[in-house]
Amino acid sequence: MKHHCENHERCMEMIQAVLDGSATPEEMQHYKTEMNRCLPCIEGEELQKSIKHALNAKIEKKCCPEQTISQIKSKLSVASLLLLLLVAEIKLIDIYF
Ligand SMILES: [Zn+2]
Repeated sequence: MKHHCENHERCMEMIQAVLDGSATPEEMQHYKTEMNRCLPCIEGEELQKSIKHALNAKIEKKCCPEQTISQIKSKLSVASLLLLLLVAEIKLIDIYF
């Protein structure tokens, strides 16, 4: 399992395309590979899905928005925590290698 994505911006675009249903077969293949081994991408997908879900719920006015917002907030804090861990890891690598 990768804890650092060397091309995260590109990966996020790809995930977005897959979720939108506009991904090319090539992007789809890359997506499947990344989702099995790339932790930042898995987290990113979760985040994008919950944002998408929140937006849909807002449009449909089906779900209580309060709950969804707090869900997104908790996801975001997990994502920023991961980012912090990543930075810490890089610093440790700097020190030891
Ligand atoms: Zn990735």
